Amino acid sequence: MTKTERRFWSLVKRHTPEGCWIFGSGNINDYGTFGVASKSIKAHRFAWEFHHKCKVPKGMYILHKCDNPKCVNPDHLYCGNQFDNMEDRKLSGNFKITNPAKYANRVKLSSKDVKSIKELYATGDFTRAKLGKLFNISPSVIQGHLSGRLKHTIDSYRSSNA
Ligand SMILES: [Zn+2]
Repeated sequence: MTKTERRFWSLVKRHTPEGCWIFGSGNINDYGTFGVASKSIKAHRFAWEFHHKCKVPKGMYILHKCDNPKCVNPDHLYCGNQFDNMEDRKLSGNFKITNPAKYANRVKLSSKDVKSIKELYATGDFTRAKLGKLFNISPSVIQGHLSGRLKHTIDSYRSSNA
């Protein structure tokens, strides 16, 4: 662990491994920020990059399953696009996640995610396993979407349950 990483994790309050890990202090509705080399970066992005040992892919966002902007538990974070980011905020009122483990089994890719997955896979730089990690779903779900076997996305799921 580097000095920066040690400093980062020393600012995180962990009560349980499964619960939310809260970074820093201040307004609970704000993202935590962390200064690295005179730049301010978002704490949850730092935590995600640390955990996955790679940079957040260009154009992608790190989002919370737990609806807690200060949380930096990598298990509560997933990679998505701007569409998900807006949807997350829109839904936070009526789509509250109380059990992240249960949520992990739900349909949670948007049609835009599926498009991104297909595009990323087509570049040849991403395996199904790597894509699974990026989108926080199992490689078999990635395969299902690539082959067209899985058709449900958050958007279609929501409209059929509206
Ligand atoms: Zn959390």
